Amino acid sequence: MITQHKLKERIRSTYFELISDIAHFSYDELLSVVTNRLTTILNTTHSVIYIYNKWNKKYEIKTGSKETDLFMKSLVDFSDINQQLMESDISDGKSILKEKSELLNSVIIPLFPKFGSSGFVFLSYPKDADPLSNNSVGIVKQETEQLLKLVNYYKLSENSVSKSKFLFDMSTRLYSMNIKEDILKDIVQCLYKLYPTFTYYLLLSQDYEAESSLPIKTIEYSDAATKRVSTQAFLTGEVQLEDRVKDKNTSIYAPLRGKQGVYGVLQIITPHAVDFTEDEIDFITQFANTAGAAIENVTLYQHSKHLVSDLKLINEATHKLNSNLKLTEIISIVRKQIIEACRATQAGFMYVNDNSDDGFDLLSGSTSYFATKQGEIFAEDILRQMQANADPMFSGDFKRDIPYRSIMAIPMIHSGKVHGAVIIMHEERYFFSFESYKLMQSLVQHSTLALTNSILKDKLEESVITDYLTKLYSRNHLDESLKAHMQSDEKGTLILFDIDDFKKINDTYGHYIGDEVIVQVANIIRTQMGQEDIPARWGGEELAIYLPNASIDDGVELAGQIRTQVESFTEPGITLSCGVSSWIDKKLDSVSDVFIRADKALYEAKEIGKNCVVKEKKLKKHSNI
Ligand code: GH3
Ligand code: MG
Ligand code: MG
Repeated sequence: MITQHKLKERIRSTYFELISDIAHFSYDELLSVVTNRLTTILNTTHSVIYIYNKWNKKYEIKTGSKETDLFMKSLVDFSDINQQLMESDISDGKSILKEKSELLNSVIIPLFPKFGSSGFVFLSYPKDADPLSNNSVGIVKQETEQLLKLVNYYKLSENSVSKSKFLFDMSTRLYSMNIKEDILKDIVQCLYKLYPTFTYYLLLSQDYEAESSLPIKTIEYSDAATKRVSTQAFLTGEVQLEDRVKDKNTSIYAPLRGKQGVYGVLQIITPHAVDFTEDEIDFITQFANTAGAAIENVTLYQHSKHLVSDLKLINEATHKLNSNLKLTEIISIVRKQIIEACRATQAGFMYVNDNSDDGFDLLSGSTSYFATKQGEIFAEDILRQMQANADPMFSGDFKRDIPYRSIMAIPMIHSGKVHGAVIIMHEERYFFSFESYKLMQSLVQHSTLALTNSILKDKLEESVITDYLTKLYSRNHLDESLKAHMQSDEKGTLILFDIDDFKKINDTYGHYIGDEVIVQVANIIRTQMGQEDIPARWGGEELAIYLPNASIDDGVELAGQIRTQVESFTEPGITLSCGVSSWIDKKLDSVSDVFIRADKALYEAKEIGKNCVVKEKKLKKHSNI
């Protein structure tokens, strides 16, 4: 039996020795040495140290195996240990717990060092040995608490150095990456290394598109969610803690913050309710900031790459659109760019047209959905809306009875007026990013001028080649067409019509009715002729049809049909004389030859009594065919 004084001396010198060698031990190794020495000094059968683990709210054995743990727990009733330790008065040196062993005495010495986690020393010795005195227990408690305080200080500073190094290494690594997915993967791996028992989520904004096996969730923006702690962290950029009493866990929400904004929130869920120390929150904040800065870095990098490719796309589109294109070609280019750039499944093009029944045209080149009744109604609604306020529209959760949730609608504005709209859609929710919305606005803006020009040009061309009264082609267009066909075809036939005794109609009914009659004849021609045929108003009351690739007999037949129809169905009734000519050898014939021969045949028809069809050369009468 050693004296109290000696005991104190021995423990102190032992602990002093340990402290001077602290750098060579881990925390757990150091505690093992402590218990080994205590066994020798106090002559116990077992000396074990338990330390409180706040993450799982349990006292854990630090200086022994699982078997030792079970053995120690067989000596006393371990249940309710937390409460017992808090209330214990160890002055009597006895176990504060109910002893279960017949052979061994147990002593539990609570340790509440002034810095760091609490715990207890668990000693056992044979029942027949001298019991430990209260004073001895007091010395072990005091000296061990003092030792733990120093060790905890040391390990904390060592820890903070290693955490700084950890963050430094992480940021160096993350800054060398330029793919967001890689960065997020690394962040998650780091978290698993730091806190293996916790659960994590990266709450990111909806713009994050990649398919991923990572624990990524979408930050919710909706009003109901604004109250949520995660959203709070996102919006304020401050770390938020949430104790969920029901789930008995704690969530920490650390914003992933860069210099220019917040890119998401890191959610860490503990398996138990836990009080995070200021140090830990500081570390998690720094961790999240490092992660946020890396995400910002890669976002800016990708953004700049995006900008360059967007500029390229616009430049390419503008370049193509500058060359004098037809409307269908323009739409086809723009549609292709839209589908490639934002992977849309539908693209519709509407153009205001006051002459059309609906007040607008759905331009050909729009995708299939717009050809359906539902698509047409929808397109009209959107166009009306654009006409009313000229604002573009962007929705990722479009609530309407159509099979598309993601919608971008952009008005085509030229000289301050809405000329039409482009609608871009996808079935999935939140499919388009805000970036692609901005890109599409720019694309539509750049193509509107080309589109408007081409539509105006088409209109102008049409008015030049169309006769205002009959809406048949003009004589000029007939000439041009004949010329073109004589270059490319092998044969063709021309019919000239002249209304018989038209002066009389004018004299009897007046010019207005006279005009009406010309229109009636034009309409009959239109209904009788073939699809490829080119009908024209050749002169005042003289009309014509060119039949590409038709023989003279085809022409005579058609002329006969028209003559009969006119005779039967005009009101006031009139008749027609027709001259038919054709060409079969472009080397021998010119456009004017063909006209002259038809004109001659027509003259012939008048000569032989009108209301008949005459074929060129063989001046043969074909009346009543
Ligand atoms: P013919 O049977 O010989 O053809 O006798 P016609 O009276 O039809 O005589 P012709 O073809 O020589 O004269 C055409 C007349 O048709 C002359 C003109 O008064 C009239 N006319 C020509 N263009 C128009 C037009 O655009 N509107 C009206 N109402 N009358 C026209
Ligand atoms: Mg005439
Ligand atoms: Mg006439």
